[in-house]
Amino acid sequence: MVRGLLNKLVSRSLSVAGKWQHHQLRRLNIHEYQGAELMSKHGINVPRGVAVSSVEEASKAIKDVFPNEKELVVKSQILAGGRGLGTFKNGLKGGVHIVKTEQVEDIAGKMLGQILVTKQTGPQGKIVSKVYLCEKLSLVNEMYFAITLDRKTAGPIIISCSKGGTSIEDLAEKYPDMIAKVPIDVFEGITDDDAAKVVDGLAPKVADRNKSIEQVKNLYKLFVDRDCTLLEINPIAETADNQLVAADAKLNFDDNAAYRQKDIFTLRDTTQEDPREVAAAKADLNYIGLDGEIGCMVNGAGLAMATMDIIKLHGGTPANFLDVGGNASEGQVVEAFKILTADDKVKAILVNIFGGIMKCDVIASGIVNAAKQVALKVPVVVRLEGTNVDQGKRILKESGMTLITAEDLDDAAQKAVKAAYK
Ligand code: GDP
Ligand code: MN
Repeated sequence: MVRGLLNKLVSRSLSVAGKWQHHQLRRLNIHEYQGAELMSKHGINVPRGVAVSSVEEASKAIKDVFPNEKELVVKSQILAGGRGLGTFKNGLKGGVHIVKTEQVEDIAGKMLGQILVTKQTGPQGKIVSKVYLCEKLSLVNEMYFAITLDRKTAGPIIISCSKGGTSIEDLAEKYPDMIAKVPIDVFEGITDDDAAKVVDGLAPKVADRNKSIEQVKNLYKLFVDRDCTLLEINPIAETADNQLVAADAKLNFDDNAAYRQKDIFTLRDTTQEDPREVAAAKADLNYIGLDGEIGCMVNGAGLAMATMDIIKLHGGTPANFLDVGGNASEGQVVEAFKILTADDKVKAILVNIFGGIMKCDVIASGIVNAAKQVALKVPVVVRLEGTNVDQGKRILKESGMTLITAEDLDDAAQKAVKAAYK
């Protein structure tokens, strides 16, 4: 669950910054317990585990599944990493605890329904609705393993390291040579030679080499067969009985493959996502939530990026990236406006439309309709240009709404910043 490392190792080009960007956008993210089940089905060794959502379920699981275990690992299930070193808002330290079996209910009770804050969640944290109870294997060594897609080699790449665990990012920074990277020819598939190189990178101390090679091949097969964009196991560990086991699991899937991975896509947990993005996805809008103060409604991804940049240039921070697209309907514009106005942090809205295929009057009608449905609490700056611009301006004017009009992009950004921070 260490995405920071991957960001350092693999080139990523998205330049919009902000805490929500730490999510894999348009890539399904599933919980650890779901990933473990999937891995198990694909022949990968995982600890025995059960996910529970209440203390009662925990008690039952202990009786039914772990009657003879003296200790168990209790793991908060959130769609973010760094849980081990995280802190709950109720003060409890650590989202992963290894405890005596008789203490499991107590610790599960302290995690369930609580907010866990980690390096990857942002300060608002994420709610723990389930905890995963796992058998405590005696791990003799913790290593790092990941498969992702590499732009440079235009295919899957397997990353392995002999040292894994909770602070892999620091290690990657200090000792980059310890990280082994093995690109795989996606047409040929993984060869024994490739898998052996990966195992060399892991450098297991006790695990059987041939069995480890088999595990790596199974992991690769899972990655390809299930349309993963990321499969990260940190730690992949060795047990005293010479086995490799996946003691954590972070799996992301390509949204474009939803049609052929239906069983996986039913696992989507929207309660862990940015609610603004969930609403935007429903309305089929290209929206990415950020943590600034100026809400942006723009058509075209390039113009949206430019708008965000120019807001920054004038000393403001964008609250979002939003491209309403080339042929958004009035309804979509209404939805977009609702999302922007529902965001408490938004202190001003900047509408920047260059009408081409998208017509200015459609945008204008959308804004006016949205304003009828939601209370507009913040100033709105509008810059319209292009197809049907006069009609658009007339609709806005006749609506009686108080709008700040702008002549060009610079003017618009300046006015929005002034309105937001006055
Ligand atoms: P993350 O912090 O969100 O990546 O959560 P992990 O699942 O990686 O758990 C954090 C740490 O807890 C790991 O690095 C391990 O050191 C430890 N841990 C997790 N699962 C087990 C387990 O089954 N057995 C033992 N002994 N330690 C575990
Ligand atoms: Mn981990």
